[in-house]
Amino acid sequence: MIFYHCLQNAGSAVAEYLRSLVKGCGYSRGHPVQIRESDVYLTVGATQALQSTLSVLASAGGNFLLPRPGFSLYDSACVLAGVECRYYDLLPACRWEADPSQIRDLADSRTLAIVVINPNNPSGAAFSSHHLLQIAEVARDLNIPIIADEVYGGIVFGGGRFIPMASFAYLAPVITIGSLSKRWMVPGWRFGWFAICDSNGSLQEVRKATEILMNINPGPSSVIQAAVPTILLDANVEFHENVLALLESCMETLFVGLEKIDVLECYSRPQGSMFMMVEVDTSRLLGIENDMDFAKELMKEESVLVLPGSIIGLKNWVRLFFGLPTDLLSEACDRMRSFCKRRMVK
Ligand SMILES: *Cc1c(COP(=O)(O)O)cnc(C)c1O
Repeated sequence: MIFYHCLQNAGSAVAEYLRSLVKGCGYSRGHPVQIRESDVYLTVGATQALQSTLSVLASAGGNFLLPRPGFSLYDSACVLAGVECRYYDLLPACRWEADPSQIRDLADSRTLAIVVINPNNPSGAAFSSHHLLQIAEVARDLNIPIIADEVYGGIVFGGGRFIPMASFAYLAPVITIGSLSKRWMVPGWRFGWFAICDSNGSLQEVRKATEILMNINPGPSSVIQAAVPTILLDANVEFHENVLALLESCMETLFVGLEKIDVLECYSRPQGSMFMMVEVDTSRLLGIENDMDFAKELMKEESVLVLPGSIIGLKNWVRLFFGLPTDLLSEACDRMRSFCKRRMVK
């Protein structure tokens, strides 16, 4: 179905782009993955994509399985849709991967879908093909779809690889969410998408509901859509290589800077996205009870802004953003270091 406000070539460019990602990584071998233009819905950023997807799948008494630490918009979308959130843990000591048996145990007959964010915000993890396969097998066994938030798709470095979840759509239906906001660094353009990749047709009803919803939802502006085929289908190799090299050096600057601060610990180097999670040993800091205090006092005394982990489900951790010039990151590390030194329990 083609909506009056959706240019045909923007939708087909997204489909072609997604197919090329799946083909490029080579994990769907023997199971050709179909993503046609009719599987793609264009949205106002990934935000509208995730809100539409969750509200279409929602039903009274249902629940979604979300990662913890996570991305707050999923919680909000669940509240709005009137469904329960259940959290599976991303494990810092296991490179922030999840325990598939925990996901399985959390699910029941009312579980609607598993949400997977890869590359991951907030941990910076880029999941291995083995881990993605494990999650797809759980979804197959539970007979539920996977919502794959791949807003950071392609933003990988330091030996990480991006493998689209749709590579495993032969096991379970995958709804892939993406946008121009992060990889092309134009969050203000508000252009995103979701693609329903459903090889055995179990999401027929979901498609029907989606089409009704997308007919009444405002879509992205046609002016932006006109630019999409050029943006997505031109490889722009140099641009992306430069961005990744820059992000990797930013990550390294922050990681090395944090190693010099005793009370802060980052378990593993991020291999994707623009974020890392850092554990705060509050027991060694005077007047700091928890991550919220840490963030507040650090802001007050050093003007360094970090996101308290308790907001995204992990108490006494903070999330740091490293998409900044390296000199600013070094200065932020120096400031965090003097802050911690001043507060350190003798
Ligand atoms: C930024 C972000 C989004 C929202 O993307 P927009 O295209 O800006 O709406 C969704 N999911 C995750 C994990 C994000 O970090």
